[in-house]
Amino acid sequence: MKALFLEDVGKLALRDIEKPVPKADELLIRIEACGICGTDRHLFLGEFPSKPPVTPGHEFVGVIEAVGRDVTDFEPGMRVTGDPNIACGHCAECQRGRVNLCANLQAIGIHRNGGFADYAVLPHKQAHLLPSSLNPLHGAFCEPLACCLHGVDLAKLKAGSSAIVIGGGVIGLLVVQLARLAGATDVVLITRNVEKRQLSEKLGATATLDPSSGGDVVEQVTGSSGLLPGGADVVFECAGLRQTVEEAPFLARRGGMAIILGVLPQGEKAEIEPFDLLFREVALVTSFLNPFTHRRAAELIASGMIVVKPLISRTIGLEEAAGVISNPAIAGEIRTLVVPQH
Ligand SMILES: [Zn+2]
Ligand SMILES: [Zn+2]
Repeated sequence: MKALFLEDVGKLALRDIEKPVPKADELLIRIEACGICGTDRHLFLGEFPSKPPVTPGHEFVGVIEAVGRDVTDFEPGMRVTGDPNIACGHCAECQRGRVNLCANLQAIGIHRNGGFADYAVLPHKQAHLLPSSLNPLHGAFCEPLACCLHGVDLAKLKAGSSAIVIGGGVIGLLVVQLARLAGATDVVLITRNVEKRQLSEKLGATATLDPSSGGDVVEQVTGSSGLLPGGADVVFECAGLRQTVEEAPFLARRGGMAIILGVLPQGEKAEIEPFDLLFREVALVTSFLNPFTHRRAAELIASGMIVVKPLISRTIGLEEAAGVISNPAIAGEIRTLVVPQH
């Protein structure tokens, strides 16, 4: 079979290797699709710790080809999405139920071989069933959606709440939809790209703003004649930029919350104004990974309640994956999916 390997920082190669044999508790998955995520580019650049040589790809969907001898809950032919984040179950954080903060976290596609390959192995406890009738490409969105669900859970949105989403990438466009599902009546998306703004309005955004159109973004949103006078109950930072992280708390209303989902390079700093956070009692919160949300993400994708088809920018074969991962995302690109040709 073919598998892409991160051989070292800055070096990706497609290799011919033996198909893996599932261990007693594992499933062998024939990969149908695997999304290329910003994290894959960070791995290539050495901006995110990993263990080369390793096959990247943590947003995958596929059909079970074989099961290990102890697996009784899955059988060949079933379509599954894999939760790539494997918690140890016994460290202090796992024992407190904070599995995303596990001290021994092992991630498929980062520490273990992932989905940019014809086949991958997955512990059965990390697998979630998807309907066989589902468009397999849609299954590749379960992992990013599970991460967004954690963020939206932390936001504690209520019916009638208001939200601002900064960033029109895959995370921003999923958060827009989840915020509406969670009851938000006003959802403002802030992004430079006009196609993404238009798409977000089809997906549930009630207003959009181009931050590059000139003028102060905070004033244009929270000012007395702004899009959301006084600010939003919750601001989701999904762009992963210093400037937007700094802006997010000022877009929240008094007593509101700013949640950071975007990933900035390790070591990068941003300024906050503690007086303003205190005086307006704005909570600054971070959302990391997908603790206990993957099952719900699978349900939302399977039900069609979250729309992902327009988020697929293109599909490519395994041969093209190295070239795409080793270059910056193309302007306007939302998600590129790798589809191995079996
Ligand atoms: Zn990802
Ligand atoms: Zn643990």
